[in-house]
Amino acid sequence: MLNITTLNQFLEGQLPNALEMLRRMVGINSFTLNREGVKQLGQFTAECFAPLGFTAEFVPSTKPQFGPHLALTRPGNGSKSIAMVSHLDTVFPPEEEKQNNFRWQIEGDRIFGPGTNDIKGGTVVMWLVLAALQKMAPTEFEATTWKLFLNSSEEMYSPDFGDVCRTRLAANTLAALIFESEGRLGNEHLMVVARKGRASWRVTVTGRGAHAGSSHGQGANAIVQLARMTDRIAALTDSSKDLTVNVATISGGTVLNRVPHEAVAEGEFRAFSPEVYQQTKSALLAMNGPGDVQARVDRFPCQIKVEILTESRPWPRNAATDRLYECWRQAGEQAGYPTNLQERGGLSDGNLIWDAVPTLDGLGPWGDNSHCSERSADGSKLPEYVERGSFVPKAAANTLAILALLST
Ligand SMILES: [Zn+2]
Repeated sequence: MLNITTLNQFLEGQLPNALEMLRRMVGINSFTLNREGVKQLGQFTAECFAPLGFTAEFVPSTKPQFGPHLALTRPGNGSKSIAMVSHLDTVFPPEEEKQNNFRWQIEGDRIFGPGTNDIKGGTVVMWLVLAALQKMAPTEFEATTWKLFLNSSEEMYSPDFGDVCRTRLAANTLAALIFESEGRLGNEHLMVVARKGRASWRVTVTGRGAHAGSSHGQGANAIVQLARMTDRIAALTDSSKDLTVNVATISGGTVLNRVPHEAVAEGEFRAFSPEVYQQTKSALLAMNGPGDVQARVDRFPCQIKVEILTESRPWPRNAATDRLYECWRQAGEQAGYPTNLQERGGLSDGNLIWDAVPTLDGLGPWGDNSHCSERSADGSKLPEYVERGSFVPKAAANTLAILALLST
């Protein structure tokens, strides 16, 4: 087994390079819709991994508004392969970064800045792990085919990235390792072994417009119907099934002297269990058809149309992920790095590939306030940051776990 002290020393020595890399990554705005910025970050990332022997392939997104995905490959001289996954984009438009003066800023052990935690810090941990393996375990490093996949548009709906990975995974891929930030519970470091699925939906109610004064009874009020629907939809939420159904936006009507002829609501639902996910989807779609709000004069009913807009299937607990996690738990034990597991409500690229190859998530550093850019004078609002002190121990634990995985 690798000597943990030597490993930590090597990683400490690499940390300044890694943080300089991170500083430059954070300096490139890569908001999902900033196509050029995402592309530029992809190019810089390819440059960072080139000295480790990786060649880059840029894969155009199927959506023209998004930048290209990045696939980095280093072929090995043995039969085993490991995939690593991160993403290029962040949720912060350039104007928002400017308005909130949200940029690279070090305060004590915290490094603030867009993407420091989600997920540029994770990409840098990936780099540290590969640098450590190359230096400290050259035989295993050279024998393995490494494939790194960086999604250009993880923060928006980008189902094509799953195919980008699936079509490029080597036949004997032991694991897909996802470098989203870790969770924490007390002194335990939490790896992610399951994530909820999410579907977004729209309900459109078409009623019948009418003069609100002279022919109110002719009208079938779309807003009244939709209000009933939103209540029924929200009531599908069931904490005993870990199911949340969120009504998120609503609009309808035009002017005050008309019975409104149309109203629209949108939202999402999330569940861990594929069965609960399917049941909820069916329950929503069953609401299609004539409604119970009708015109008084002739019982003309409102019409309800339910659409599923986007779907990311659940990543449920499964044996392959659990086996993979066991390598991390044991490595954590060896490294004095207490580890536990977590099922998370938010999505990641793990939802797209868990059924193709054993997948483990949460391999990035520790930080907090992802997706936040505001800072208030009293400190009650803080923007996204990553903890500098979390890079080396996490990279060490990941390195040991990967070596254990390769030896199985
Ligand atoms: Zn992320």
